[in-house]
Amino acid sequence: MPFHLDLSLMIMSNDEFVLVNIHVLHHLIAPNPILTLCTASVFLAWGRSAVQISRHSFETVRNSVLHYCQPKALKETRDFTICASVLYSHPSKLVMNSVIYGPVPSWRLGRSLGVDLLSTQGKTCNFNCVYCQLGKTANPVRERRVFIQTAELTQELKSVRGVAADYVTFSGMGEPTLASNLGQAIELARDILHLPVAVLTNSSLMSREDVCDDLARADVVVAKIDAHNHDLFKQVNRPVTGLLFRDVLKGIELFRSGFKGKLCLQIMFIEANKDFAREIAKVASSLSPDEIQLNTPLRPCAVKPLTRSQMDSIQKHFNNLGNVISAYQTARPKVTPLDSNETSRRRPKL
Ligand code: SF4
Repeated sequence: MPFHLDLSLMIMSNDEFVLVNIHVLHHLIAPNPILTLCTASVFLAWGRSAVQISRHSFETVRNSVLHYCQPKALKETRDFTICASVLYSHPSKLVMNSVIYGPVPSWRLGRSLGVDLLSTQGKTCNFNCVYCQLGKTANPVRERRVFIQTAELTQELKSVRGVAADYVTFSGMGEPTLASNLGQAIELARDILHLPVAVLTNSSLMSREDVCDDLARADVVVAKIDAHNHDLFKQVNRPVTGLLFRDVLKGIELFRSGFKGKLCLQIMFIEANKDFAREIAKVASSLSPDEIQLNTPLRPCAVKPLTRSQMDSIQKHFNNLGNVISAYQTARPKVTPLDSNETSRRRPKL
């Protein structure tokens, strides 16, 4: 008798809880012996899309399946063991997604090879910007932690040595400074790929010394600022409770005073903040950036982009602040991503 069985198990693997969803299709096909197909997806409780499972957790999964699956015929078939062995032997093919994506054509950084140090299933961020191309924040997080182990990142970086790119850019499924191993990851990326390193940050944690220390290892830091006061900050960026606009500003100021690399301010203009360009320009001026990047959401999202002429009018408030670039005026290079699925997950439209 054919049967389907879906299991959801919460198991302990080393020091992490792992949610395992297992779908078993057990089918008797005469005259062949029992054919059992088993697919397993392993999710961290945090929402990481897939992780390499350890031998310990593999054994736990296997034993759990064998314990719960009925009828007993399944226990006796070697096919399940074979399928599961494949899963263990080739985890990268079956259960892992890449931490690296792109290269993508960036109007600010040229050919940008992305590193997603979060790589979560949904967006992990302490903001929920109204214009976010990744949709609603799935994992609203305020504390830093390690999402991707350094060993895993090292392996992936080594596998893309020689890729033609202008920058390695830390960005992806949320706010990269939430990864507490960001500083170490920046050094690794530079050492392995011999490319300059950029970080795109929402600036929320720059008032923290450990975050500034991490960001200071990058060649370029692109810091977001979309408002001139807390009310507009809340309306546009919708931060988690407790994040204050004045602390964000202080953080950028503090970082600026010690940073030897290139500090860019990125400002996203939409309907909600377009009438405050003059005030935002004043704030930008006080932060002494090396470059100001005026943006509007040209990729699909919940709000409409401003028109070219609206952006031109906004730019007039910034022109006396030095090096200013705008999304409508800057060409993007042609690039082909290594893996279009991994890339479109983080960057819905190139
Ligand atoms: S900070 Fe970036 S990732 Fe976070 S919600 Fe805003 S646009 Fe999206």
